[in-house]
Amino acid sequence: MEQADGRDRGNRNWLSALALATLYFALAALTLRYTRFNGGVALIWIATAPLLAYLVTRPTRLWLIPALACGVAGVIATIMFGLGPKAALPFALINLGEAIGGALILRRLLPRSYRFESLREIGIFLGVAGILMPALAGFFAGLTANAVTGLPMLRNWFDYFTGHGLGAIAFTPLVLLASSGEVRNWTASANARERIEATFLVLVMGLVTLGSFSQDVLPLLFLPILPMMIAVFRIGRLGAALTITLLTVIALICTIDGYGPINLIAGSSGMHAQFLQFYLACAVLIAWPAAAELKHRKIVHGQLQAASAVARLVVDRTGDVIIYFAVDGTMQYISPAIEIIAGYGPDELTGKMPHSLIHPADMDEAIRVHRLALQRPDDIFIVEYRARSADGSYSWYEGHSRAAVDGMGQATGVVSIIHGVSARKDAESALVREAQTDPLTGVFNRRGFDAALAERFADGAPATPFTVVMFDLDHFKAINDTYGHETGDLVIKAFAEHLQGTLRRNDVIARFGGEEFVAILDGTSAQAAHEVCERLRVGFAQFERQSIDGRGFRVTVSGGIAVYREGIDMALLLAEADAALYRAKSEGRNRLALAA
Ligand code: GH3
Ligand code: MG
Ligand code: MG
Repeated sequence: MEQADGRDRGNRNWLSALALATLYFALAALTLRYTRFNGGVALIWIATAPLLAYLVTRPTRLWLIPALACGVAGVIATIMFGLGPKAALPFALINLGEAIGGALILRRLLPRSYRFESLREIGIFLGVAGILMPALAGFFAGLTANAVTGLPMLRNWFDYFTGHGLGAIAFTPLVLLASSGEVRNWTASANARERIEATFLVLVMGLVTLGSFSQDVLPLLFLPILPMMIAVFRIGRLGAALTITLLTVIALICTIDGYGPINLIAGSSGMHAQFLQFYLACAVLIAWPAAAELKHRKIVHGQLQAASAVARLVVDRTGDVIIYFAVDGTMQYISPAIEIIAGYGPDELTGKMPHSLIHPADMDEAIRVHRLALQRPDDIFIVEYRARSADGSYSWYEGHSRAAVDGMGQATGVVSIIHGVSARKDAESALVREAQTDPLTGVFNRRGFDAALAERFADGAPATPFTVVMFDLDHFKAINDTYGHETGDLVIKAFAEHLQGTLRRNDVIARFGGEEFVAILDGTSAQAAHEVCERLRVGFAQFERQSIDGRGFRVTVSGGIAVYREGIDMALLLAEADAALYRAKSEGRNRLALAA
């Protein structure tokens, strides 16, 4: 089975080698027969094109048979139509050397692709197949021609160089595109309109070229360039390959037959042939780079379309708001989710600055992160802020921001994906509140008291004077002992409620532990604080309590008052209040004492 397969492949290789050699012979014979104007080498040489295309697209182990076959074909062609038997073997070797050398270099420099999708590919191909190899091989060709016939070496080098260079660059791309499946791909993917258009454009190219080269009244050499460029722009690389081939074939046949504008030039047939090659080389250099660049842009365009389709879907379907901020901070694009999240119409905010949206307290941080993102385009920055909805209420948001960059890596703006985090923020603050609250009474515990105090001292000294009052219920052990611990708890709760009912909203109330409370009374003098606390003490004492088993009793409270003064720290202030409380207790309880 494997053997049969191998034999099959071998047969195919022999067959394609035979076809290639036949083509090689036909092209060599034609050009030798009709273009040896100077009596030396042919001025036009296209036989190498299919051989070169064959070699670059196949592994080197498959090269031997086709190369040998083309060598034999070349020997026969040179004997029949060229410089004769003596030159036949050297020329066959030189031509093979040019093709094999070119193929080896090209396979090294362009290992994978011969699809001419970039300027680099075109440049390398033209440089190697159109200039380097023809110039090198031409040197040996000139030597051989000189040795065999005594013809001038330099002249034959030049004729070989131009003929082979043009042949390679004009014809090889078409053969390569055809054999790489590019033509098949195009035919498969093109719709009817595109096929008709392509056929029409190639037809027009053929007619215009025929028209231009079948007359020798006007120098209409520029005319075929027009349909050629249209074909390049409409059909791409295939258009370039087809129109250049058409132009080359028609211009060659007409000019050699004595027709066409090139014959308007005073000079020999050899000079005409050489000028024609110069003309055709220019056409190649116009069409191929344009085609390659076009293909490159098509690829980039395709990638962009894919990316923008993804972006559109994300923007339309995500519940997050996506905003594009310009460098100066103006909102240039806002995704539709803004309507659901914050109630603004999609165009209502476009072109505006976010200053009227973001909470003033969070604005500095938002600006800082915007600038940071612009400075470090590779990083993503996260910022939390409050922003105002259309109804005027503020909610918490989290924005993930990264700079958008231009081709030079320069930041052109900042893209931010924003989602609401109010629920999380609420949960967080609920947790904090719970940790700071005394479960029995609902007022601050010690931790809450410390936090409230820290807030008051946040900017160094407190903004307003204040008074600290320590309370402790009198003979509480006895209450517990007499009426039970549960009744004791009720009394503790009742005192907390009494504090809340008597003091102002802004005053801090905390249970320090047991039946001990502390209050911070805002902006009051010692005198005023004393009056408030006195009312509180009297009010609490006159109220008749009920134990859970229905017995009536009264509870009194003692308090120590300390007034804040500049330079004093909190621990000292509390110690002073505690000392005053101790004094009130020792002086008989159910009274207040001022710190000394
Ligand atoms: P004084 O007038 O000197 O303050 O006497 P006192 O009995 O109140 O003494 P002290 O303040 O030292 O004792 C507090 C008592 O309060 C001790 C404890 O049995 C009781 N106690 C502490 N925490 C609780 C509580 O959460 N619930 C109840 N029911 N009793 C508590
Ligand atoms: Mg007590
Ligand atoms: Mg106590």
